[in-house]
Amino acid sequence: MRNILFVFVVFVLNACMKGESVDLVIFNAKIHSLDEKNQTYEAMAIRDGKIIEMGPDRQILNKYRFENSIDAEGKEVYPGFIDAHGHLFSYAELKLGANVLGCESEEDMLIRVREYQDKAKREVVIGLGWDQSLWGLSDLPNNTRLNEEFPETPVCLFRIDGHSALVNDAFIEKIDSVEIEIRGGEVLMTNGRPNGMFIDAAIALLEPHIPDYSIEEIKKELLGIQKELFGFGITGIHEAGVDFNELGILREMVEDESLRLNIYAMLNPTQENKKFALENGVFQTRNLRVRSFKAYVDGALGSSGALLKEDYSDKPNYRGLSLMSSKELNDLAEFCLDVGYQLNSHGIGDSAISMILDMCANVYKTKPDHRFRIEHAQVVDLKDLYKFADYGVFPSVQPTHATTDRRWIESKIGASRMKGAYAYKSLKNQLGMIALGTDFPVEYTNPFYTIHSAVHRMNSQNEPANGFLIEEALSFEETLKGMTFWNAFSAFEEGALGTLEAGKKATFVILDKPLNRKPSFRSNFSWKTYIDGRLVHSLE
Ligand SMILES: [Zn+2]
Repeated sequence: MRNILFVFVVFVLNACMKGESVDLVIFNAKIHSLDEKNQTYEAMAIRDGKIIEMGPDRQILNKYRFENSIDAEGKEVYPGFIDAHGHLFSYAELKLGANVLGCESEEDMLIRVREYQDKAKREVVIGLGWDQSLWGLSDLPNNTRLNEEFPETPVCLFRIDGHSALVNDAFIEKIDSVEIEIRGGEVLMTNGRPNGMFIDAAIALLEPHIPDYSIEEIKKELLGIQKELFGFGITGIHEAGVDFNELGILREMVEDESLRLNIYAMLNPTQENKKFALENGVFQTRNLRVRSFKAYVDGALGSSGALLKEDYSDKPNYRGLSLMSSKELNDLAEFCLDVGYQLNSHGIGDSAISMILDMCANVYKTKPDHRFRIEHAQVVDLKDLYKFADYGVFPSVQPTHATTDRRWIESKIGASRMKGAYAYKSLKNQLGMIALGTDFPVEYTNPFYTIHSAVHRMNSQNEPANGFLIEEALSFEETLKGMTFWNAFSAFEEGALGTLEAGKKATFVILDKPLNRKPSFRSNFSWKTYIDGRLVHSLE
């Protein structure tokens, strides 16, 4: 009785007092705020792109005047997912070129390239996505078959990680002189001749002969990718390395409001980009924010370019590629500090990671809250682990890499180094935070794959059965934080994004189905995605 009376009184009071107007109310929802207390709410009121108040349905519906409301039908609401490491431009190029992702044999790849070229009729064919481990090969391929299929048209096919390329002889003929000694790179040879494999820094020899797609083509693909991301509830991307012209495209698309995704862009350390940073400092225009550089310290494991402290287990007397000296890295760090930028360093092998950690030790002395990140952090020497905590270094990892690479990783690094491999729990325990992403298009953009890989250490086929290095699994809650709040924190955006709280941006996803906690994968999508209180995707 008391309760009914209370409701009645509240209703009458609010009917009289209901004055404050808002733009939108979401109600009948299960809103996971992911705030410090992990509170859930039924409803939230939104005005001018920000959350005004969260609470029970009765309270929010009675208190505010509104024209728009969404009955969420009991669905789960989360802060919009943020992918802490992706490549919008590589993904656009993948879509524009010959897509050889997932090919299970070299022949399969050649068929796809042929089909592509029959339609596209390009003067030079560029493709991306092959992975020799899917063909049952541990060694990198050579261009014998590619030459047979394409004797005249130059063809350049990037490996899935973008750290190596297979090119045919027609392409190699375009290069004036193929240098053999390249710092941080390799041109593989057979009988004294390049056999078509160019690794890491050697890709620079190919670049002048790779034609650019038109800006219109790229913009069209970027919009398609944005649609895909919104469909998964992804509202933000940390774009891991852009050149100056790519930054220009992003700026144009943000200004004309075609690109609504929140983009945190890391600049490649080119002269033009450094000049931009010097002139602009921390740069923000609408939903694009620039305040970081990307450093490339080593290559990738799949093409044996990651820099290890000891020899590769499958390649004696070989430890990988060093793309930067420690002096160059320290100079770049100093430049970043001068312009107020963060430095996010690609470090995959334990030796590269050690070098980055030592650089961070210096940075920590002058700026303890630098939030410098190590991108990938795939094989960490356990002796170095504590340095993440001691020097305030932020790990930024891709859980789907763990469940993809597990097929071949032990053959490359051996059993003893596996203890520090894809060690996300151990890394998270250092700083208490970890940033999660996908490295798309190396892995799929699908955030539900990330959750499954991080929590159960299984791929979407639920392999391996008991989880890969399961002791390094993150909890469900940690994983969600790693896709929202911690990612926002790793980009200095935690004041506005990453949790759903009054005063923060109304950037969130209403999921089609509840998040799956079980160790068997279930697909999911966004029912509705909102950025700054504006609907950007709806399933219906
Ligand atoms: Zn990447």
